[in-house]
Amino acid sequence: MKTDFLIVGQGLAGSLIAWHLIEAGKRVLVVDRDEPETSSKVSAGLVTPLAGSRFHLPEGLEDRLDYARGFYWRIEEEAKKEFFHHRRIARLFRSEDEASYWRERVASEDSRYERFHAPLRIDTPPFIAPFGGFEMRDGGWLDVAAFLEHTRTMLLERASYAIARFDAGDLEIRTGGVLWKNVEASVVIFCEGWRGAGNRFFDWVPLRPSPGDILDLEIPSLTNEQRVVNKGGWLLPLGQGRFRAGSTYLHGPVEVEPSPSGRDEVLAKISGITTLEVQMTGHRRAIRPTIRRSQVFIGRHPSLSRIAFFNGLGSKGVLNGPWHAKRLAAHLVGGEALPPECDLALQPF
Ligand SMILES: Cc1cc2nc3c(=O)[nH]c(=O)nc-3n(C[C@H](O)[C@H](O)[C@H](O)COP(=O)(O)OP(=O)(O)OC[C@H]3O[C@@H](n4cnc5c(N)ncnc54)[C@H](O)[C@@H]3O)c2cc1C
Repeated sequence: MKTDFLIVGQGLAGSLIAWHLIEAGKRVLVVDRDEPETSSKVSAGLVTPLAGSRFHLPEGLEDRLDYARGFYWRIEEEAKKEFFHHRRIARLFRSEDEASYWRERVASEDSRYERFHAPLRIDTPPFIAPFGGFEMRDGGWLDVAAFLEHTRTMLLERASYAIARFDAGDLEIRTGGVLWKNVEASVVIFCEGWRGAGNRFFDWVPLRPSPGDILDLEIPSLTNEQRVVNKGGWLLPLGQGRFRAGSTYLHGPVEVEPSPSGRDEVLAKISGITTLEVQMTGHRRAIRPTIRRSQVFIGRHPSLSRIAFFNGLGSKGVLNGPWHAKRLAAHLVGGEALPPECDLALQPF
């Protein structure tokens, strides 16, 4: 079998690059090991433009955000399904320090902030907001599992999907392309998430997998809230009193099983958001692929030009992923230069 691009992994990264290459008229084969719990499948899919306690607005965030929303809407229109849910985020301050930091940000005359905030309206109780807060605009959440499922269906319809565990040791690099089993491709793109840490071609990339826990909750008396409520921890309403809640951000050894301490940490965050009684109905854990904070790296291997990489989506894959997929596709198909800050081959790791 011949294809233009062999893509390893159908998480968010693999799905996004597959869409972009197909839109550019290229043939792809996506190979995925079909694990039940992956970072993409477990993810809450939140897009939080002003993240963290310093409300930092990274350079270029608006471009990446606008491109991501446009991309998801494009796929939705074609699928006649909704994947991206545009939601306001009620951002409650955790302390007076955080509140005064925010006031300084807004007073700094940085006009970039104007687009992202509105006054907060919140009932206290049931919410706990002694330091106030604001409403963040232009956020929302992607139903990542539904987006992945739709992508898989699209790939299956094109005979462009296979369930297999790809072993980099089985890859033969030839002049003009690569061979894996009976598949000839001009380039292989590794989109393996945290499992990329075991890939012999990229063992020099400092992947720092970061486990995260997420809970399913029921709060029967809170059926009217449409906004995501964020106070470090967050509550994502799914309707009819059902919520997702998160999350932990762990460092150190990769433990894939959900732990009681992870559950308790998330429940403690939620008890700081609302006085209402919550019932836990589910607990999942997955491993985020983090390289340097949430900085994404893309591009060709520095010495093996037939081997490419798309990884490091970290905790902001939904926001950052589409823009990086667009840049990687333009590089691989049209030879466009990559932005130096995310070109893997230029990193002095
Ligand atoms: C608890 C939690 C909450 C999160 N919340 C958010 C959020 O709110 N917003 C946000 O933007 N991000 C969030 N994230 C992060 C987000 O999930 C990631 O940024 C993104 O999904 C990573 O996608 P990926 O494709 O790089 O990796 P993955 O999702 O890990 O996908 C990699 C895929 O490749 C497959 N694979 C790996 N190696 C091989 C191989 N050798 N052969 C075949 N298949 C292989 C895997 O099985 C998997 O399907 C969260 C993550 C966690 C854990």
